[in-house]
Amino acid sequence: MADKYDFDLFVIGAGSGGVRASRVAAGLGARVAVAEERYLGGTCVNVGCIPKKILVYASEFSEDFEDSAGFGWTVGERRFDWNRLIANKNTEIARLNGIYEKLLINSGVTILRNRARIIDAHTIAIGDRRVTAKYLLVATGGWPTVPRVPGAELTITSNEAFFLDRMPRRVVIVGGGYIGLEFAGIFHGLGAHVSVVHRGSIFLRGFDDDLRLALAGEMRKRGIDLRFDTLVSRIEPRHDAAVHVTLSQGPPLDADLIMFATGRAPHTRGLGLEEAGVMLDGVGAVVVDRYLRTSAENIYAIGDVTNRKNLTPVAIAEGRAVAETLFGRRAISLDYDNVPSAVFSQPPIGTVGLTEAEARQRFGEIDLYKSTFRPLKHTLGGRDERSFMKLVVDRKTDRVLGCHMIGADAGEIIQGFAVALQCGATKAQFDATRALHPTAAEEFVTMREKAPD
Ligand code: NDP
Repeated sequence: MADKYDFDLFVIGAGSGGVRASRVAAGLGARVAVAEERYLGGTCVNVGCIPKKILVYASEFSEDFEDSAGFGWTVGERRFDWNRLIANKNTEIARLNGIYEKLLINSGVTILRNRARIIDAHTIAIGDRRVTAKYLLVATGGWPTVPRVPGAELTITSNEAFFLDRMPRRVVIVGGGYIGLEFAGIFHGLGAHVSVVHRGSIFLRGFDDDLRLALAGEMRKRGIDLRFDTLVSRIEPRHDAAVHVTLSQGPPLDADLIMFATGRAPHTRGLGLEEAGVMLDGVGAVVVDRYLRTSAENIYAIGDVTNRKNLTPVAIAEGRAVAETLFGRRAISLDYDNVPSAVFSQPPIGTVGLTEAEARQRFGEIDLYKSTFRPLKHTLGGRDERSFMKLVVDRKTDRVLGCHMIGADAGEIIQGFAVALQCGATKAQFDATRALHPTAAEEFVTMREKAPD
């Protein structure tokens, strides 16, 4: 009966989620094919997390060189070569692409390098072939969106930012989300003058307000020009490939590069989803139930294409869950609480659990613990940067609901505390945990004074 179809599972999209689903399903004995029209590894590996973090590392050296003087160093002439960085980054990404390919092949997954289109619930057109499958998994991710603005054709998105043929000297970034703020830090650290244009009164919607304000302060100290409550009205070309950017308020900006980081849309258009009975929401995201099943009985969807928590580790967990549900011993529905996330801004942010505002709304009475301090490294280094940490605690049960940080290594630190929150740790258990001295992380277990409401 199984042979009624060419494959047991046909995965569309070989990003982090699609690859994980394919490998786990194949490991459970399913006959799996994965279609990919672009690059193996998807956004995260090719134009997201990985190359982004590489560029963040590159950009952090400038501050390290400056701060080293207080520790006795004299650093010679500094020169930065953008093309060398991009070439080395490309080599590393190509290596990762190869690893992804090997992992799939070694798992026995058939890789089809072409665009797939769903014909009906069990049939997929791929190139000039048609294949059938018992189950389909949509893992096509998302794609940057640019609002309609006169001159929008002169802008780039994060997709292109990773491949610029030269380093811009003046950069305008539009959007105050993860991507905009990470690239603001990257371009600033590499020596560009950066302006961030954000439509709201403060960026990073959804993050704890104290972190949002702290990051704005730190970015301003570094000399990044923040334009809040401002929209781009018009972009016009100037000589030398530069642009002139007119804003809804405030002085215009001249720049070599204008990058829109105004969000990403689910990649669902032209896939044949509606024809197969798959329901999409108002922004084109695939609607799924708690088992990641779409409105079509045999079609599942994971990751950014469902537009819920658009983070790589979530897509990976979802990929595994679908494979286990379909070919393993039991149906798996995931828990989406306490998913940590980091913004690799400079300084970085790490966060897990509820913000103060969310906790107040859901739990009413909460206690807050806050700590602001100058990191030890900056005492001799001389940098005027403050780290900030915050705990949000449920007054009734003493459970820690949220753990938030801005400062060096915030992502690394918060990953550990995510385990504590996942275990339901109380503030008393945080207090009973011995500090590891001298670290920044120890602040999370030594905060004793409640912050005033
Ligand atoms: P986000 O949705 O995080 O941010 C988009 C930003 O653009 C917001 O500040 C938003 O403002 C603004 N915006 C949206 N539409 C417009 C418009 N028409 N005009 C002006 N401003 C606009 O998207 P990103 O592109 O930064 O990132 C996409 C997703 O990728 C993230 O949500 C995240 O899940 C994931 N990601 C995760 C990373 C990580 O974990 N470190 C890194 C990069 C991406 P407003 O707040 O007012 O809506």
